[in-house]
Amino acid sequence: EEGSKKRPAWVSLIRKTKTLENGTLRVFLVAKVVVNGEMIEYYDISGCYILRPWAMSIWEIMQTFFDAEIKKMKIKNCYFPLFVSSGVLQKEKDHIEGFAPEVAWVTKSGESELEMPIAIRPTSETVMYPYFSKWIRGHRDLPLRLNQWCNVVRWEFSNPTPFIRSREFLWQEGHTAFATKEEADTEVLEILELYRRIYEEFLAVPVIKGKKSEHEKFAGGLYTTTVEAFVPNTGRGVQGATSHCLGQNFAKMFEINFENEKGEKCMVWQNSWAYTTRTIGVMVMVHGDDKGLVLPPKVASVQVIVIPVPYKDANTQGIFDACAATVKTLNEAGFRAEADYRDNYSPGWKYSHWEMKGVPLRIEIGPKDLANNQVRAVRRDNSAKSDIQMASLVEGVKEMLDNVQQSLFDAAKQKRDACIQVVNTWEEFAEALGQKKMILAPWCDEEEVEKDVKARTKGEMGAAKSLCTPFDQPELPEGTLCFASGTPAKKWTYWGRSY
Ligand code: AMP
Repeated sequence: EEGSKKRPAWVSLIRKTKTLENGTLRVFLVAKVVVNGEMIEYYDISGCYILRPWAMSIWEIMQTFFDAEIKKMKIKNCYFPLFVSSGVLQKEKDHIEGFAPEVAWVTKSGESELEMPIAIRPTSETVMYPYFSKWIRGHRDLPLRLNQWCNVVRWEFSNPTPFIRSREFLWQEGHTAFATKEEADTEVLEILELYRRIYEEFLAVPVIKGKKSEHEKFAGGLYTTTVEAFVPNTGRGVQGATSHCLGQNFAKMFEINFENEKGEKCMVWQNSWAYTTRTIGVMVMVHGDDKGLVLPPKVASVQVIVIPVPYKDANTQGIFDACAATVKTLNEAGFRAEADYRDNYSPGWKYSHWEMKGVPLRIEIGPKDLANNQVRAVRRDNSAKSDIQMASLVEGVKEMLDNVQQSLFDAAKQKRDACIQVVNTWEEFAEALGQKKMILAPWCDEEEVEKDVKARTKGEMGAAKSLCTPFDQPELPEGTLCFASGTPAKKWTYWGRSY
């Protein structure tokens, strides 16, 4: 509502708005897409969601990829407990300052109060590092490279949004210790590259690799690298995944020391890195359309849905057999294909149902197709139709799925790039922010200036903040001034509203 002071809770759920001819503002909410697409179900605790198989299967596909990649890097899986004692949690001062407001505590068992409340992990640095200290003695114990797949709880105050900002979420968290900073630095970037691949190669979402500002970096860390995504429909950036170099802060507090080859006592260098179920939310926001979800083939648990279209008097059995044969051929060729034989729904109903769920390719088989020994294939992303001869089914489907994957990425990149605006002054910045842009501006890199930008842009849509300083830096001509402070600029940095 024009002039309204308070930002209603559902604002963070807006996926797109459209002004109709009569002036009505139609608002599309992400909640509807993910519920109707059978990804999540709302739960009676705010910020917690049920992940249904349709979402979980996407998570598992990314997990299979990432898990294999980190194993190649000699990183091993482990599992640490969900609970943290308050003493340990509070050991690293900056870290707990950053997380304290979001920590959930267990205070009772049954009717009796616990002697000491126990925290639920918001992340596991403090859970794990006392044991790193115990296990690392000499340089032969290094590097120590662990990962765990688990859930964490952060009692966020900002409006919860399915996947993007939930109070309990699934993630992997990697925790590693090295003898040298160089090794730690190298790993930070290797992991960041895997995060880029998850977004770009699997979810078909373009991201920008860069470094977080001092203000936005991980609490207690040395520096944070990130892959930043952008949702053009809402004009918001989103921190896709982060790979942190923790430096030696935690090593100091948790006394993680080792003896080097010369017998000298040294402190380890540490990293931690994580991506979460947020990845799925970003994909939904970037590709979804008015018909529902649009899933990239690489992560869709059903890549091809085969639908029999038996007209009256048609050879129904023949059509059903052709559907079964199609599924069998595709499965044997390694595609995830299924047929929808339900006889209580019409083909038209099934089309919309599978479109809503985002299945990349629909195959229809009707009497004409049967007669011509072909199938009709329809792409979810652009509704393009083509007839494929049964004899070349596998090649035809492969080509179409590859095309869908590539066009989703290309379209998303084109849309994202069109949102990037380079500015030099505060006026240009304010205007670009009003136009929901992802803003690239010369910056002096002062924390106070970033806080000031936040304060000056505060409003019902939320304040702007720095998203990242891209590794890929355009040239910064001598004498360029900071867009916000007017002092000499040190770097180009992306700014915008974010989730
Ligand atoms: P952090 O440990 O704070 O660096 O978080 C790791 C990653 O988790 C971030 O880069 C975000 O992409 C993601 N994340 C942070 N908070 C949430 C949340 N409430 N729900 C889902 N994902 C989150």
